[in-house]
Amino acid sequence: MKIGLTLAISFIAATTQAADKPNILYIMSDDHAAHGIGAYGGRLAAMNPTPTIDRLAQEGAIFRNAFCINSICTPSRASVLTGQYSHTSGVKTLSDKLPPERHTLAHGMNAAGYETAMIGKWHLKVEPSAFDFYTVLPGQGAYFNPTFRVRGPHSWPKNTITVGGYDSKHSSDAITDISLKWLKNRKEKDKPFFLMHHFKAPHDNFENAERYDFLWENTAIPEPESLWVRGNHGPQDRDQYGTSVGKRNSRRNMGDHMFIDDALTTAEYKREAYQRYLKKFLRCVRGVDDNIARLLKHLEKTGELDNTVIIYTSDQGFMLGEHDYIDKRWMYEESLRMPLIIRYPKAIKAGTEITALVNETDFAPSLLELAGVTEIPDTIQGRSLIPILESGGQEPADWRQATYYRYWMNMTHHDNPAHYGIRTKTHKLILFYGLPLDAKGALQDKIEPYWELYDLQSDPHEMNNVYNNPAYTKIQKTLKTLLKETKLKLGDTDEQYPALKALVN
Ligand code: CA
Repeated sequence: MKIGLTLAISFIAATTQAADKPNILYIMSDDHAAHGIGAYGGRLAAMNPTPTIDRLAQEGAIFRNAFCINSICTPSRASVLTGQYSHTSGVKTLSDKLPPERHTLAHGMNAAGYETAMIGKWHLKVEPSAFDFYTVLPGQGAYFNPTFRVRGPHSWPKNTITVGGYDSKHSSDAITDISLKWLKNRKEKDKPFFLMHHFKAPHDNFENAERYDFLWENTAIPEPESLWVRGNHGPQDRDQYGTSVGKRNSRRNMGDHMFIDDALTTAEYKREAYQRYLKKFLRCVRGVDDNIARLLKHLEKTGELDNTVIIYTSDQGFMLGEHDYIDKRWMYEESLRMPLIIRYPKAIKAGTEITALVNETDFAPSLLELAGVTEIPDTIQGRSLIPILESGGQEPADWRQATYYRYWMNMTHHDNPAHYGIRTKTHKLILFYGLPLDAKGALQDKIEPYWELYDLQSDPHEMNNVYNNPAYTKIQKTLKTLLKETKLKLGDTDEQYPALKALVN
């Protein structure tokens, strides 16, 4: 009740002058790591994987330090919609639900006078009923011949229908076809639009459209050094933690997923698995990029390109062989970082570089401010990025100095112990507490808790855990205090989990 009341009050001021407001096109892919985007640099940039997304960055702003708060699909999507951390939204795992009345972003956009649509991957289980229009994949959805759930005569989730014309299509093409159709035929053209256009790609199992089958066929994809060298990364005595590219994790690895010949030597197996993994991933990425070009072309043709705020992001990052890891879930850089690029030439200078520490709880308040909402609901824990964008990248003096992260699904699916931590601009402190607590689907596996500390300035690839290094005693102490303060401020104090509290005190 309290939330509904807050929303009703806060959004009243925003209903006027809708016609003067910009359209908002929010494009989110699934598991598209920032280092799989040319504009972010890194070892894959020379392959030019994303010419269109790079154009958005060149003509707008790129956030270099944008992070997720829980690197897994459903909780991350809940955070985008609510502006909340997982412990607040209650969506900590893939099994948790977010009631439609708490889809804050959609309610706010409607109240601000927008025509709203949610198209593509949803993965939040309950009906996206707050949107004026939706066509969403059921669950993870299919890469080929996708079916969609639409608002219909039957109640959710029985309204799964095959939307005509997509029988032979790849999901990225089909989702874009649907968005273009909606943009052309939407009912309230006197209103600006808010479209959440969510690709399924490049989520596993990385199935690309046929036209990309030979892309980069004869290219050797550059490998990260840490594919081969572990260094002092992670727990030294627990090499079964985290699923792998090569044979390190005997239970689950990418070589298995990619049907690599088990008779190959360990090194050949890993090399072959990595190449096949990256090529499939990047071919899906190119499919995303080409479909974004279709959206831009439509906006250009209709004269709406510069009236539209275009956001590109992904629900989290992904480990592309760094430290021999696959998948996400980790608080390590490649999994933690979200791409975040925003183009809106009327307010954002081309080529703006932003290094402020931002996270996905900031998305909802930013989008609401763009939509003209003057009073952000107090349920939102993030903070609007608009002042940073408008000032060309200057962060307010009281901006956060650490971003908080927590992964709850202890040892589920990809063998990652439950953990939480903070990342500052210079360091990262993580406690792998390894307890299932009350997280749905978390495993009871017995994990010996451990800490990691990385000096991101001297060690950006997290090759050297300095937690036990005496030279870092002072920094460790400072970061532990900051972690404690951050948890207190965000209301994630773990009072209800005495076993966990005992580890920290
Ligand atoms: Ca995801």
